Parts: sequence; C-alpha cells; structure tokens
Amino acid sequence: MNHDNSRTLYDRALSVMPGGVNSAVRAAIEPYPFFVRRGAGGHVVDADGNRYIDWVMGLGPLLLGHDLPESVRAGIQRNASEGPMYGTPTEIEVDLAEFVVRHVPSVEKIRFVNSGTEATVSAVRLARGYTGRNKIVVMHGGYHGAQESTLVGGDAENPSPSSAGIPQSFAEHTVPVPFNDEDAIRDVFDAHGDDIAAVLTEPILGNYGIVHPEEGYHEFLRQITDEHGSLLIFDEVITGFRVGGLGCAQSEFGVTPDLTTFGKIIGGGFPVGAIGGRADIVEHFAPTGDVFQAGTFSGHPVTMAAGLETLQFAAANDVYDHVNGLGDRLRRGLSDIVADQAPSYTVTGTDSMFKVIFTRDGPGKESLEEQCDAGCRQHPTCPRYDYCPKNAADVKDAETERWRRIFWGEMKDQGIFLSQNQFECQFVSYGHTDDDVEETLEAYKDVL
Ligand SMILES: *Cc1c(COP(=O)(O)O)cnc(C)c1O
Repeated sequence: MNHDNSRTLYDRALSVMPGGVNSAVRAAIEPYPFFVRRGAGGHVVDADGNRYIDWVMGLGPLLLGHDLPESVRAGIQRNASEGPMYGTPTEIEVDLAEFVVRHVPSVEKIRFVNSGTEATVSAVRLARGYTGRNKIVVMHGGYHGAQESTLVGGDAENPSPSSAGIPQSFAEHTVPVPFNDEDAIRDVFDAHGDDIAAVLTEPILGNYGIVHPEEGYHEFLRQITDEHGSLLIFDEVITGFRVGGLGCAQSEFGVTPDLTTFGKIIGGGFPVGAIGGRADIVEHFAPTGDVFQAGTFSGHPVTMAAGLETLQFAAANDVYDHVNGLGDRLRRGLSDIVADQAPSYTVTGTDSMFKVIFTRDGPGKESLEEQCDAGCRQHPTCPRYDYCPKNAADVKDAETERWRRIFWGEMKDQGIFLSQNQFECQFVSYGHTDDDVEETLEAYKDVL
C-alpha cells in the first residue's frame, strides 16, 4: 500500500496543528494516520486511493454508513441552502425533540447542544444545580468527553486530574470508582451520600474496550441513587440510538435514568449533543430555571435535519435488524476464531458494537464451547467469567501494545480499518454487507 499523499498531508498538518490532528486519538496511529478522501457505503478511500472496510464509522455517529439515504441528504441540503442558522427557533428543533421524547421513555424534555462533551458538562451542572450538591460519581475508564469534571483518575479517597490544566480542587468534587463494583459505590455513598449530586455512567463502557454491566448493576445504581436523593445520569452518547434501537440502551436494560446525555448518532454525522430527562429536572435549565446553559449553534437546523432524517429512516427501515444482525455474525465469527487461535482473548460488544480485547489469561480451550457466544455478557456461568474484563483496570492489563503496534497495522494492510487503539469501540453501519463481515473475519483469522 502506498501512503505518500497521507504522509505529505501529515507533514503539513504537523506544522500547523498539535500532533497534526484536531482530536488526540486520531494521531494514535504511528508513524502517521491515513487521511480520508471520501466514504462509500461501509468503506473509506484514503488520500492515496487505498480502500478500507471502515469499522470506525466516525467513532460512532454514522449509523447509516457513508452513503446517506436520499431523505437524509435532502433534509441536510434544504436546511443548508435556506440559510444555515438564525439565532432564533426553527421548527426542525421541535420535530427532533418530539421524536426523541416519543421514543425514549425517560426523556420528557430535551436541550440540544453541539457535542457530547457539552452535553455532559451541562448535565453535570444541571445535576448540581437541581440537587444543590457538589460531588459526581464516575467510573474508571468511563469517557464523558474532554471536560474538567470527568477527566479525573485516582480513586474515591484520592481523586486527581487525569489531564494537565485541571486544578486539584476541581477533581475533589469527582469520585471515580471501578465499573461493576457495587461495594465501591456503597462505600462512596456511606462516606458522601448527602453531597452526591449524581452517578454519571455509560450504560456499557464504550470507550474502554467495551465492558458490559453485570446483571443487576444498573438496577443497583438506580436504587442507591434513589435512596440518597442523587440523580442517575446515563451517558448514552455512544449507545443512544445504537444499543436497544430507538429506545436506547436504557430500554434494553430496563432502567430509567433521571437524565440522559446524547451525541453522535442523534446528529446524523454533524456536531451534536443533547441532555434529556425528567421535565422537572430539565426545567432547571435557563430560561425556566437558574442553571445557565446556552449556545450559538445549539439546535443548528442542518444538524437537526440530519439527526431527524437519520432516526426517521431507521424507524421506517430494517436498519437495526441489519446492523445488529451483522454485529452478531461478526462477534460469533470472532468468538470462534479467538477460541481457536487466541483463546485468552475476549470478544466484546452488543448490537452493532464490537471489539476483541487482548486479555492475557483465559480458561482452558476445552471449556470454551459454553462461552458467551456473541460478545461478553458477564454471565457468571460463562467459563470466561473469572477472566473477562469487568472494569477499566482489567482492559488496561490486556496486550494493548500488541494491539496497537502489530495488530492494527496488519489489519490495515489487509484493507480493514479498525479503531485506533485497544480501547475505542468499533461500529457496524447500514452501509456494511455480509461480504464486509466475511472479509473482515478472514483478515482476523490471518492476523490474530
Ligand atoms: C464521544 C463521547 C463523548 C464526547 O462526545 P464529543 O462529541 O466527542 O464531545 C461523551 N461521552 C461518551 C460516552 C462518548 O462516547
């Protein structure tokens, strides 16, 4: 494969942008990432004309793949050409808000913003404003965008900023705990119960190798937050309108959060975020309430049209059957390959999300016939249960360097574009086909 044009572009980019990129993870590929010229269905073509099956899909937003249906294209073009935006309301914001309220039972009211980061920033402020409390409980390895309250590591007793530029005093209002660990949450509520504004979690850790909740974990979070008058916030920026179809992951798990953050798919490929939830809480946003929140571009007509047309297309067509069916075939195929060639590795994901975590230890090969066969579900009866990653620390212990330095590049050379490191998730789109799945499984077979 020739990458001359990408190398030249990256050389130019390095001179004018930090790391040559506008979002850190894009530079994770060494020595330089390929630059994309265009998308086509489930594929992308790079600046040198190389074609790849694309399982990155914009890191989540592109439910329909790169070829937008006519209705989506028309909605975007109509709203762009009528004048891009106005600083005063438009009908399409109401249309998308009504659609979300109709399909996601926990959402009675919604505010649109411009990124997932902005959504979680605003949700945290809203939770603090509504409860009059300071602390936010987050999960290690949970990702809520590039924001001060959640870029926090360490442990519950000693939280510390995980990025330069965040004062220690900010981090002290954030309480990080391991995912899937009920005792850790109990301890935190014992110590700080009356100052916890919210527990903020992804329903499935989607930015850390994909970790599924153990049975009952979200019910437990719902119960303990209720008992202490804290809010439960689901960050569904990845899982929203991907897991559990139009009802989102909360419908799949049967747990009703107080607030939900959205992003990615809800904007149909354009910059977006949203905060939805109980009306009496969301009403605390200005102008009805005293929690300030605003944005010049919020509810942008082009984004609203792209989001609405995408979701309406998904509602009227076999989109979720298609992407979830291919996701299932991928995870089953990968489970067979892994059992055969790398039995300690764990296949994760659900619906249209998938990943192979290069876990170092596993059960004996003989027992693998009874494993979760289409992605790790944390079933206590699975022979992998003692080994499968249950939280961020477990994923971090995997062979992340092999993934990054050896595996990613060899898959790329076979024309398969996987996400940039062991941690980011991979996505099936409506543009993918059975052939894409077959070709990808063959490549895994070769490379693993
Ligand atoms: C991507 C993501 C975000 C951040 O969204 P941006 O649009 O990149 O700011 C927040 N939370 C989760 C769960 C995400 O996956």
